Amino acid sequence: MRPAATPVARGLLAAAVGVLWLTAWPSGAAAAEEVRLTMVSHLHSDFSSGWVPSMEAAARRAEAEGVDVLICTDHLLRRVEYGLWPARRWLRQEVRLNAVLERGVEAYLAQIALANQRHPRVLLLPGFEVVPFYYWSGSPLGGLTLHAWHQHLLIAGLTDPAVIRALPVTSNPFRPSPFDPYHGDQGARPYQAFIEACREAGGLVFWAHPWGGVDDQVLRGVRVAAGPYFEQLADTDHYTGFEYGDLEVYGSKTLGRAEVWDQLLMDYCRGRRSSPVWVIADTSMPNALADKRTVLWAAARTPEAVLAALRAGRMYAVVRPPMPMVLETCRVRDLAGGAEGTLGETVRGRGPMAVRVRVGPVDPRRPAAFMLSVIRDGAVMARIGGEAPWEGQVVEDPGTPGARTYYRVEIEDAAGARIVANPIFAHFTDQE
Ligand SMILES: [Zn+2]
Repeated sequence: MRPAATPVARGLLAAAVGVLWLTAWPSGAAAAEEVRLTMVSHLHSDFSSGWVPSMEAAARRAEAEGVDVLICTDHLLRRVEYGLWPARRWLRQEVRLNAVLERGVEAYLAQIALANQRHPRVLLLPGFEVVPFYYWSGSPLGGLTLHAWHQHLLIAGLTDPAVIRALPVTSNPFRPSPFDPYHGDQGARPYQAFIEACREAGGLVFWAHPWGGVDDQVLRGVRVAAGPYFEQLADTDHYTGFEYGDLEVYGSKTLGRAEVWDQLLMDYCRGRRSSPVWVIADTSMPNALADKRTVLWAAARTPEAVLAALRAGRMYAVVRPPMPMVLETCRVRDLAGGAEGTLGETVRGRGPMAVRVRVGPVDPRRPAAFMLSVIRDGAVMARIGGEAPWEGQVVEDPGTPGARTYYRVEIEDAAGARIVANPIFAHFTDQE
């Protein structure tokens, strides 16, 4: 532990923040009987775009690289059709790419089950990447453009083939979608309909890569638009979270993902949206298996427990790895009443609230230097330099009764690798 810290607090919070250093954790502070698991949650096998040659190969590689949980997210459907008005059904062109609904949901689930059987050290969960909607602008005579084709959602937790086939997806051959591609931009409606269908069936839904696809492309004379879609994060509700990517790597500097996310969390605290929004790591690169990961705490190493942890926000994302540290503990404690909570939970009390953090090195023989930021309501309330293994807490004065806020932490190493942890909410009351 390094006592020489320089907390920097901003604005009005400056007077309210104090930093204390703990020599020991109060008993009962550690979460009981939970396993910390690393997860890769974006993967395409030969069922769709084939980043890995097969589910079997993915499982083998995950096992070799120490990945505990693998969410398989082959494309559910990649069908684009364009029909000429007024005989759209008969005069039409169609492009079909490899996807689960083309080869069969049952076959996909069977492959995953088989890989699970053969590789018991990895837990493979069935999931899908979905293009719920796309639409056309222009005409074949000029300027024909395909929109929203790169706006993707990742889903997990659905295992009933009939439910999966019935999801509202434009051009779904098993069930017509209420949203056809000929009526232009439908805003958030097709996505919200899709999210609700997944949610009602018990599934989890994450927005994938909201920074967009690659640049716009022209394929067979058709322009394919591929810009960012951060606005969908705000315009839709009830989804589980989104992939927290590295915008600098993707070259987009117009919208900061942290600003977008903090705004969503503040909206939730102010009652302007009904569900919180969690982050998972962006593992959407073909070579990502090795290091881009989400780390989660689950009650057991089972599909149910992993899905419950993701639903509850009990995880953090690793951005720009390799990350030489692990976040071992992150808790908020009401120092007046003693209520306590961890990632994704809400702590109720009069305050002051203490944000407690413990950081460990990945390799115990190599202490790792880091900078810890504690963020509240979109503003950095403390920045502390340290070296893992490390533990400490940031204490804030009591809040206004009735107020709701959140705390979240980021931990960055000298090379820019970052841990981005999900928030802990605080609801200030006038009772101890
Ligand atoms: Zn995608």
